[in-house]
Amino acid sequence: MSMNTQGRPTGIGTLGTSASGSALLPDEPLLFEIGDTEHSGVDLPEVELTSNRLGGFGRKRKLDLAGLTEPEAMRHYVRLSRLNHSIDSGMYPLGSCTMKHNPRLNEKMARLPGFSDIHPLQPVSTVQGALELMNELSHWLMTLTNTAAVALSPKAGAHGELLGMMAIKAAQEAKGEAHRTVVLVPESAHGTNPATAAFLGYTVKPVPAKADGTVDVEAVKAALSPEVAAIMLTNPNTCGLFEPQVIEIARAVHEAGAFFYCDGANFNAIMGVVRPGDLGIDAMHINLHKTFSTPHGGGGPGAGPVVLSEALAPFAPVPFVRKGANGLELVEHVEDQALGRVTAFHGQMGMYVRALTYMLSHGADGLAQAAEDAVLNANYIKARLQDVFSVPFPDYPTMHEALFDDSFLKGTGVTTLDFAKAMIDEGFHPMTMYFPLVVHGAMLVEPTESESKQTLDRFCDVMAELANDAKAGNTERFTAAPLKAPRRRLDETRAARQPVLKWEKPVELPKAAE
Ligand SMILES: *Cc1c(COP(=O)(O)O)cnc(C)c1O
Repeated sequence: MSMNTQGRPTGIGTLGTSASGSALLPDEPLLFEIGDTEHSGVDLPEVELTSNRLGGFGRKRKLDLAGLTEPEAMRHYVRLSRLNHSIDSGMYPLGSCTMKHNPRLNEKMARLPGFSDIHPLQPVSTVQGALELMNELSHWLMTLTNTAAVALSPKAGAHGELLGMMAIKAAQEAKGEAHRTVVLVPESAHGTNPATAAFLGYTVKPVPAKADGTVDVEAVKAALSPEVAAIMLTNPNTCGLFEPQVIEIARAVHEAGAFFYCDGANFNAIMGVVRPGDLGIDAMHINLHKTFSTPHGGGGPGAGPVVLSEALAPFAPVPFVRKGANGLELVEHVEDQALGRVTAFHGQMGMYVRALTYMLSHGADGLAQAAEDAVLNANYIKARLQDVFSVPFPDYPTMHEALFDDSFLKGTGVTTLDFAKAMIDEGFHPMTMYFPLVVHGAMLVEPTESESKQTLDRFCDVMAELANDAKAGNTERFTAAPLKAPRRRLDETRAARQPVLKWEKPVELPKAAE
């Protein structure tokens, strides 16, 4: 792009509107390729620096940042945002992730200056409203789960798992039972469960699932021993099923002197309907960014508060909010506290505001209805597609996720991955593929309560049409997909293992002699 000496665009360069290709599918260059390091994006008079007060710490080399005008920078980011599927642009049936609509009321509340413009080191007397919000959110989380305490600060589900298991470890040590070094994890568990246990030095002992997709209480009893510190059980489980023997499992675990960690990432299916405390759980993380609609994806901020039973409450980390003589106070030090803090400051304030807004705007009855609608939507999809797709566990009604497997693709030459890529061309984010691992070629669909019947019908029509096309031998539509996305198929492993995170200035090759 041509610019004047102060970096103002002077004409329509190649990058003036969008980079190349069609306006809606831009091949977006980097900021460094749009602008250049020789120009500034703003009109500033030249300053003559005679002296400064930086004491010799002044920058010696140029900063080498690309100079862009505000519209150029803004358009770059807006164009980038359009390259990705998002819950704001279409249905996102990614199982286990609860990609539900984030009501705009949540955003409005999170942007109130009393929540968004405060600093964690401000005197508590000046942030009473924020503390009250944290207190109120804690109250709702404990009430919905019937538990004795909550730690708000973990920043994701996996982080909450780590905290919950640290509390269990501390509780076992306090009982003089540090020799308990085994954690039971059902085979259908999310990968974060065994990873958490292993990270804390536990030996993971898998518990096999029954043919119907649920955890066998007899298998749990057989695996329990004086070495077992805890079980990590997901309920509803990752096959989309409510564990029918969960109370019996909890009883057996407690009788054996172990704790019951529940992976509560699937709380969306039962919030307001079932209180996990009544099922005998000792610790459970709640993904505010799933169940309570706060935005997530792409590594965005999450929040994974952990509720704790009476037995584990004394091991809750700091900080927490408490009523004091002069209003609410933040308890940041407790004598002999086992865990201390697990995050800098207090956690994700913006997510707390969004989650509480979601709770208050729904009310207790509204939350229960949201859970029931999520379950209804998943069962609707299962019922509509069960003759087209294959259903691995037909015996139970499903909870908030419909699980299919890829046996309907057998002999078609179309793989599960091909099928997922073809969904992109139809305007849907693919469902979760190849998870849970207990089902070969799993396809996990989670519509959430925020989709209308029209959207569900369109989704089912498209899925059925795709499945029938695959069976009819039209393989190319699948193996070549996605055709209507900015990129074809990526080497995802390489992208994850060898990401290119740094822009290097291209080396100027000497011009050939004319
Ligand atoms: C999402 C999820 C997790 C992990 O939560 P993060 O916030 O992604 O760390 C754990 N278990 C289950 C079942 C999940 O769906």
